[in-house]
Amino acid sequence: MSTRLLPPAFRIPRSAFCIPRSAFRIPRSAFCLLLSAFCILLSASCLLLSACSPTPAPLSTATATPPNLTPDTVALDTATPVTPTSTPPPQNTRPQYTLDVQFNYTNKSALVNETIVYTNNSTDTLTSLVLAVEPTCTKSFFLNSLAVNQLPITNYQFEPENVQAYIRHRLEIPLVTPLAPNGQVTVQISFGLILPTVADFRDETDLCSQIYGYTAQQVNLVDWYPFIVPYMTGKGWVLHNPWYYGEYLTYEAADFDVTVTFTDGATPVIASSGEEVSSITATSHEFKIEAGRTFALSFAAEYRVLSTTVGDVTIYSYYFPPYEVSANAVLKATVQSFEIYVQRFGPYPHKTLSVVLGDFNDGMEYSGLYYHSKGIFNTYDGTPSSHLIAVSVHETAHQWWFEQVANDQGFEPWLDEALATYSEIVYYETVQPEALASWWWTYRFDPYVPLNMVDSRIYEGEGQRPYWNKVYLNGAHFLQDLRARIGDEAFFAFIQDYLAQMRGKIATTDDFFRILRLRTSADLSDLIAQYFQNPH
Ligand SMILES: [Zn+2]
Repeated sequence: MSTRLLPPAFRIPRSAFCIPRSAFRIPRSAFCLLLSAFCILLSASCLLLSACSPTPAPLSTATATPPNLTPDTVALDTATPVTPTSTPPPQNTRPQYTLDVQFNYTNKSALVNETIVYTNNSTDTLTSLVLAVEPTCTKSFFLNSLAVNQLPITNYQFEPENVQAYIRHRLEIPLVTPLAPNGQVTVQISFGLILPTVADFRDETDLCSQIYGYTAQQVNLVDWYPFIVPYMTGKGWVLHNPWYYGEYLTYEAADFDVTVTFTDGATPVIASSGEEVSSITATSHEFKIEAGRTFALSFAAEYRVLSTTVGDVTIYSYYFPPYEVSANAVLKATVQSFEIYVQRFGPYPHKTLSVVLGDFNDGMEYSGLYYHSKGIFNTYDGTPSSHLIAVSVHETAHQWWFEQVANDQGFEPWLDEALATYSEIVYYETVQPEALASWWWTYRFDPYVPLNMVDSRIYEGEGQRPYWNKVYLNGAHFLQDLRARIGDEAFFAFIQDYLAQMRGKIATTDDFFRILRLRTSADLSDLIAQYFQNPH
C-alpha cells in the first residue's frame, strides 16, 4: 500500500475531524447488487476492488454540487427535552432495540429480525412513527415484513428505491391506535442487507456512508438498522437530509440487545458497541449496551486485539498485524484521555470502549466504539505531536460529546465537534503541554481562519474544509476564549454541569448557554458576537 505524505498545509486527513457518515453514491450499490452472485463465487476478486485504501488526497475546499434536495422541514434550534406532565412514565422509557442478526460472512449479507419497544416520551399523541433507514442510501436494504403490536402493517410510507437519498431513508409507519403520552408500542421489522463495498472516501459527491459495508479485510455495520428518530413536541420528527460532509443524524439514547450468528460457520473477531454478555456458540454472540446512541459492529478474521482496563471499563484496540505499534499508541492515548475526561468532565457509562482500525481512510464515533483511519495509522511517527494521537483523543472525547450528551448533528454540529476538538487541548495540556504550545495550535490549526459562524448547520458549511473551520476550529477557539474569560474553575464546573444535566438527552445551543450562565455572570456578548451568527 502506498503512503504519500501530504504537504503540511493539507496534512489533516478527512478523518482527522470525524468525517461524514454520509455522502452520494449510486453506481456502487447497483454494481454490488447486480454482481452479488459474482461476489459470492469470485469474492476474492470483488474484494480486491475495495482493498485499495490510499492515503488521503489533499482536501478540496470546493463545495460539492448539491443534489436536488429539499430544505429540511424540521426546525430544532430551541427544542428542550420534554418531561411528560401527566401520568408517571414507565420505569425505563428509553427505546429498547432487540436485533437478531443472521449473518453470512461469505457473501456479506444478513437477515435481521428487529424489535423496538418504543415509549412516547412527548406530550403529544403520536399518529405515526418515523424511522431512519440509512442502508437505503446504498440500496442494500430489503424490507421483508413489518408489524406493530403483532399486527402486520402494509400501509407504511417507504420508497427505498427513490433516487433521492432524503426520501429513501425515511420510513413512516402509521399507528392504527394513536400513541398517547407515556404509551408504549412494539414494532417488529424483518429485513435483509446485502452489504456494499465500502465507498471511496475521496468521492466528495457521495452522500452515503463511507464506512458501512465491507473491504477485503473488514465488515462494518454502522447505521445498519431502522431506528426511530427523536420526536420533539412542537417540532416533530428530527430526520434531516443526508449531506456530503458532517453528520446529519440525531439519536435518542436507547438500550440495545444484539445477537449475531454467522450462518456459514465463520468465526471472525467481533468489535461491538456493546459488551459481550454471552457467547452462545462459537458462531453466535450476544451484546448489550444501555443508553447508547447507535450500535456499531465490525467483523474481521484477522483482527488482533490489545486491551487494558480502567476501573470497570475495558478498552480495546482492534488492528491488523502490520499496525501493532500504532495500535498500541492509539490504545495508550485513548486510555490516557479517557482517564483525563473522567476526571475533568464526568464518568463514562459503559463497560467497554473499542477502537477499530478502519480498513479505509476515515474515522467516526459510534456508541462505545470509534473507527480510526488507516491513513493516519500509516503516518504515525512515534511522537505525541501526531495526528494519530490527536485524533485518538478527539474520538475518545466523542464518548462524552455525542454519546453521553447528544445533539442535533445536522443543525447544531458545533455542540459535539467544538467540545471534542477542545477536549484535545484538555488532553495535551495535561499529558504533553509542550506539544500543545509547539505543535497543536499551529499545526493542527494551520488553516484556521476566524469566522463568526460556529453555530452553522452542516448545510451552511460550503465544503468540508470551510465547514471544519467554521464549526470545529472556531468552536475550539471560542471555548478557549470562554475559559480565559471566566477562569478554569467556572469553566470546568460548567462542563461538568452540562454533562450531568444533559447526559442521556439531546442538548441544544440554548441548553449550553443556559447551563453556562448558571456558572458565570460574566458578560459574554462580545465573545458570542465574535464567534456566532446568532445571539445566544
Ligand atoms: Zn469529531
